Amino acid sequence: MSETKLTSKELLSQLLQAHYAEAITAKAEGKPVVWSTSIAPQELLEAMDLTVVYPENHAAAVGARKDAPQFISSAETDGYSVDICSYARVNMGYANLQFSEAENIPMPDLIYCCSNICCTVIKWYENIAKKFNIPLIMIDAPFNPSYEVTEDNVIFVEGQLKDAIAKLEDFTGRKMDYDRLKDVMEISNETATWWKKATDLAVNVPSPLNGFDMFNYMATIVCLRGRKAGTQLFKLWYEELKEKADGSIGPWKDGAEEKYRIIWDGIACWPYLGPTYKILKKNGVNMVTSTYPESWTILYEPGDLRDMARAYDSIYTQRNIDYAADRLLNLATTFQIDGVLFHSNRSCKGMDFKQFEIQRRLTRELGIPSVIFDGDQTDPNIFSEAQYETRVQALVEMMAENKKRKEREFDESSRTSY
Ligand code: SF4
Repeated sequence: MSETKLTSKELLSQLLQAHYAEAITAKAEGKPVVWSTSIAPQELLEAMDLTVVYPENHAAAVGARKDAPQFISSAETDGYSVDICSYARVNMGYANLQFSEAENIPMPDLIYCCSNICCTVIKWYENIAKKFNIPLIMIDAPFNPSYEVTEDNVIFVEGQLKDAIAKLEDFTGRKMDYDRLKDVMEISNETATWWKKATDLAVNVPSPLNGFDMFNYMATIVCLRGRKAGTQLFKLWYEELKEKADGSIGPWKDGAEEKYRIIWDGIACWPYLGPTYKILKKNGVNMVTSTYPESWTILYEPGDLRDMARAYDSIYTQRNIDYAADRLLNLATTFQIDGVLFHSNRSCKGMDFKQFEIQRRLTRELGIPSVIFDGDQTDPNIFSEAQYETRVQALVEMMAENKKRKEREFDESSRTSY
């Protein structure tokens, strides 16, 4: 009997279910469970064969299935401010209540935190370690105020990777197997490369990729980057998208036209994925890329800890405003963008504070229109569907006007060339 080949979406769903089920089984069997930040050097944990879950991933899943309010409320009852990132509040509330109808993770035995995504995680993860009285491994990756990543920062992070290895050896009672670590680093590079290749296919016009799909696949680039299953998933996704691109097939199943191509800056509004997607689609707007594809494209020389330190301190959130602006302007040019939708995410101040300046440079240097809407990744109280729709309509009007102007200019230049 021939085996039916899974689509990448089916494989994605299977892998995520297995990821959470394996963690719950591991805990039941008495194996230690690690809670880790989303862009931490997972290679060290994978090489030590530890079971890892990612609180941000879990909070996003809980948020998308609309189960976040009870956890947010529990954390706020403990005194955590409404101004703290809602991933943190969901997770700290979950650590209290320990059950969600949406998705479950086992309680941790070890906390593993890398500050390369933001400073919030430092105190959040420290508090979780304190609450459960368990060890904390902190990798402090400093921000780069200069355009390039500084050598001092790289050496500093490399030292901490070595220290993290020593602490993991203490925790597990086993020595790090450096051959195994090199293998995991190779797999992680390969997975990241397929993730980038797949998301880069959105440069095609029309884009075969609907950016909201990218939001769905993000969960697995977080939790399976160091595993062969992750490589297979993103390779399969790439092949599907390549076939669509070769056939000039656009992003939507119903064949609707991709009239406008935009960048979505910031995290998704997980509780409102449906409305945010539908309002864009009904206006023919496709989100073709965001700052995310690069965030998990972490590439280095396998076996080289210093190069790995450089890669983890090089991500978008660790770079100064000039780098962030150049990065977005580059994406806008490469992906032939008509407009940018900035999500001013109440949770994520580190991302938000750059948006106004990036918006100014986008207008000044490329004449690309943009709008900002207010929202939050998991706290449902911040987002207003009416405000979002009005901002999208304003963006569509500006993009339409720009298109008309370009067509007029093209017609005039064609006439004058005769
Ligand atoms: S503040 Fe932003 S980067 Fe930090 S955990 Fe929250 S969402 Fe992630």
